[in-house]
Amino acid sequence: MDVVYAMPGEPHRMFINIVHACPNACFFCVDFKGETFYGFDLKDGRAPTTDEIVAAVRAYPDRPSVQEVYYCGIGEPLLLYDRVVESVPRVRALFQPGTILAINTSGTFYVRHRRVDFARLFDLIQVSLNAENEEKYNLICRPKVQGAYQAMMAFLLDLRNFLDRTRTTCRVELTVVDPTEVEYLPERERALPGVPRPDIDACREIAATFGWRLKVKRLIRDCERVEWRPFAQSIREPVARRAAPASSAERGSEHRRRSGS
Ligand code: SF4
Repeated sequence: MDVVYAMPGEPHRMFINIVHACPNACFFCVDFKGETFYGFDLKDGRAPTTDEIVAAVRAYPDRPSVQEVYYCGIGEPLLLYDRVVESVPRVRALFQPGTILAINTSGTFYVRHRRVDFARLFDLIQVSLNAENEEKYNLICRPKVQGAYQAMMAFLLDLRNFLDRTRTTCRVELTVVDPTEVEYLPERERALPGVPRPDIDACREIAATFGWRLKVKRLIRDCERVEWRPFAQSIREPVARRAAPASSAERGSEHRRRSGS
């Protein structure tokens, strides 16, 4: 599984993929669009350790060009809450001051971990709202766990309160996917009798009640095409070459850090 990846034509953004697991199964998810994402393997294999996350980021070939770092794989990164929290300060130290550290979450991790203190570590949190009510959410996001919508809403409320109480200056955006361009849906979903559509204005009103803006996302195009493999390889190959020795060095420094030497 590739731990770091990018999108073509966007050298200023780097993504960190830490888990291929999600409490949801949104009908537009790129998980259903083929085996690779712009040539990267974001699915096959175990989740990386904290040291492996840091080593992969350190080995990223064009790190000086990166202005935004997103924890965002095919999955819910905060299912591995502690790994995210442990790795962010070490990842941040690898970039210039001013680099934006961001995370994309569905908020459904809140079914399991009722914690919001991770927000202190990020400059930007994007939460997938995706629908204006629970009934629509269940049609669009197709949760695999009970109470996902309620958990997401409880997370939003607790996050708002946490930011206010701690005066944390983290920007939050709620997001909604506009499925209008049905040709970019996963093939099996294009045949749905009626593609469920969120009410974007109603979603914007929900975001406004929390004091946040709504970001409308378009469907991701053509990410499954095999023609992207050389692009992914141009990042994967140097990461694989440099990350192994860096990983040992990281273990050494981690050991020294823990032992206080
Ligand atoms: S929340 Fe994200 S990763 Fe999970 S199913 Fe939906 S789109 Fe996919």
